[in-house]
Amino acid sequence: MNKLGTIIVLSGPSGVGKSTLVGRVREQMPELQFSISCTTRSPRTGEEHGVHYYFLSPEEFAERVERGEFVEYADVFAHRYGTLKKEVLDRVRSGSSVILDIDVQGALQIRKAAESDPELKRSTVFVFIGPPSVETLEKRLRGRATDSEEQIRLRLETARRELSFWKEYDYLVVNGDLDAAAADMTGLFRSFALRTAGMPEDLFR
Ligand code: 5GP
Repeated sequence: MNKLGTIIVLSGPSGVGKSTLVGRVREQMPELQFSISCTTRSPRTGEEHGVHYYFLSPEEFAERVERGEFVEYADVFAHRYGTLKKEVLDRVRSGSSVILDIDVQGALQIRKAAESDPELKRSTVFVFIGPPSVETLEKRLRGRATDSEEQIRLRLETARRELSFWKEYDYLVVNGDLDAAAADMTGLFRSFALRTAGMPEDLFR
């Protein structure tokens, strides 16, 4: 048995600064891989197919669901999102660690699947990114000039619901000061390489 990499399941409400934090950590740890998700939403300015997401039509997405290609999938803000098995499993088996930036529904699906899959259980950790307070998050979401009032309301409601799940995760990183949170997250991710759960049974034989 080889050393397994870690599947780092990362969630946090919209506006919490997840992508910025992930970017900071990957600068420090370029060996960390990132799972590119599939989505049925349209690309935003600057987003590229195969870099930020695989942008699929609803029909293509449904076919992939049918073929059992996803580790998990969920509807978020009226679009479908899913993690492909091929983005994650082989990499982890060969010892690489992979970040999955997914919502709470997807994270809970992986947690459930891990109950009956010992390899998945050994390799996954769940990390939640939270704001210093609900008020701070609200201010950040309102600060996004591009969103309509209706979009803001929906994002706030979803954010509050997502926040209520933080206890389901193994670790909490609070993003108040960006530098401090990035340092916390880098330290945490580095520690995953020392988890005994991912190490081969016969290590000291
Ligand atoms: P956005 O459209 O802003 O890129 O992402 C919206 C939300 O979808 C974020 O909370 C993000 O974590 C989540 N998301 C992105 N990819 C996946 C995925 O593959 N599965 C699930 N369940 N959620 C995802």
